[in-house]
Amino acid sequence: MRLQVIGSGDAFGSGGRLHPCFHVVGEQVNFLIDCGASSLIGLKHQHVALNDIQAIFITHFHADHFGGIPFFILDAQFLSKRSQSLTIAGPTGLVHWYERVLETSFPGSSRTKQRFPLSLVELKPSERTSVAGVHVTPFQAHHGTPGGPFFAYRLEAEGRTIAYTGDTEWTDELIGAASHADLFVAEAYFFDKKVRFHLDLASLLEKLPLIQPKRLLLTHMSEEMLDRVGTLEHETACDGKVVEL
Ligand SMILES: [Zn+2]
Ligand SMILES: [Zn+2]
Repeated sequence: MRLQVIGSGDAFGSGGRLHPCFHVVGEQVNFLIDCGASSLIGLKHQHVALNDIQAIFITHFHADHFGGIPFFILDAQFLSKRSQSLTIAGPTGLVHWYERVLETSFPGSSRTKQRFPLSLVELKPSERTSVAGVHVTPFQAHHGTPGGPFFAYRLEAEGRTIAYTGDTEWTDELIGAASHADLFVAEAYFFDKKVRFHLDLASLLEKLPLIQPKRLLLTHMSEEMLDRVGTLEHETACDGKVVEL
């Protein structure tokens, strides 16, 4: 299995990086984790075969994680001429937010009849389910309103486990999400500055012995963190990076 970082940035284009998006390909599975506003640009830059993507797992409805959906859908409809089915999975409210983001981006587009079967699947926290050959367990992230629609993910397929924090301040939910994962992609927004609703590296490292991932990849870094990249002991993501699992 192979994960390619399509976008390793934050909401503000720090370091000129694209919005969060990760592309995972196995023998059978093919999916995205998050689809921020700039993701279609990144996917095309990496020459990803868009119609082969079977599912998109969304952590939350902020534009840097979800804003790429309208571009992906319109491309699928009009340029890539998709016929394969596509599943978008995310927190409660996905159906409503899908329509909202399409209407805001391209008015009228939510009423266009798709050429391809599209399923919108609202997942429940801590409930393991199967989507497009992936066993997915969402965990409640802490990124705003308590219990609000924010997920971290544990994704299991073909004998491999990938965990992803999305955006969240530290919560013990991340232990379950990432425990002994083959790859743990974690937000490290700041080095040690505590900011509400986001994760800093110091807080993460303090808890890492409870998680023991096989490999840790830091992402969603602010300029302050990016300035430190050369001096960090931990692996950092960059746009285009490939991780073999
Ligand atoms: Zn974000
Ligand atoms: Zn966010």
